[in-house]
Amino acid sequence: NVSFPKPDATRFIAVANQKGGVGKTSTTVNIAAALAQAGAHILVIDMDPQGNASTAFGIRHNSGEPSVYDILEGRLDISEVKQRCESFESLEVVSSSIDLSGAELEVASMEGRTYLLKHALDAFLERSDEHYDYIFVDCPPSLGLLVINAMCAVNEMLIPIQAEYYALEGLGQLINTIGLVQEHYNPVLLVSTMLVTMFDRRTLLSREVFEEVKKHYPNIVLETTIPRTVKISEAPSFGQTVIGYDPRGIGAVAYVEAALEIARRSPSVLAAIESKQGEH
Ligand code: ADP
Ligand code: MG
Repeated sequence: NVSFPKPDATRFIAVANQKGGVGKTSTTVNIAAALAQAGAHILVIDMDPQGNASTAFGIRHNSGEPSVYDILEGRLDISEVKQRCESFESLEVVSSSIDLSGAELEVASMEGRTYLLKHALDAFLERSDEHYDYIFVDCPPSLGLLVINAMCAVNEMLIPIQAEYYALEGLGQLINTIGLVQEHYNPVLLVSTMLVTMFDRRTLLSREVFEEVKKHYPNIVLETTIPRTVKISEAPSFGQTVIGYDPRGIGAVAYVEAALEIARRSPSVLAAIESKQGEH
């Protein structure tokens, strides 16, 4: 029973990779759940119209239900939309719904269209008495306006990388997009974390992908890898994270370990962000 250090300031983390099925949502919900279980106060914003993160937390997200869609379009405040997760008392969720799938086009012509999420989050945090230790944004598999909004609202990117043959293909494009966002919209944005997912330690390929990522991003990639295990994929169908569904299984144990690594990095990550803020 190790203790998780709490960050001195809120950490704002977007989980992104334009490839689908690499483990973004599994990583968001399970890292968030592991940190909440350790006592951290967490807000998770589901930015994917598929609403998979909402599903995993057992949160309502039918079409027409208040969601992040209403927040982006300025109809509701985050305080009016967020729901408490039943499994983790200190975890709150802003759900997404399929309504969000039209938002990309609808907000394209709006004033300040890249800062819609940031402004909503700033306004909410300013008025709220709540202090969050971590705010996560689960991104859809694209590099569109929803993801740009996420990148403008946070200061850290967590990139899950699936241990497979094409793992690093597309990573360059993602890093380029992050570079453009840094240049034009959010100079503070930092790629703080990479996490290798669906790792199979019996295969040479998995180990090679991990080594390759470590070679290119030595201080960014977590030492913990997430194994491929069916429990992680089963949990959402019970409206659960693997942390709640199979707490002693290898999937939950790995996500707790990864969450601990993330928590322990807080001082150095926050210092890096602060020094970037100082430059701008
Ligand atoms: P993304 O959000 O990037 O699309 P998901 O987290 O939804 O990715 O994962 C894609 C699919 O793979 C889902 O069905 C999920 O349950 C499954 N999955 C994710 N991580 C693992 C894992 N470590 N082991 C087994 N299945 C996984
Ligand atoms: Mg997803």
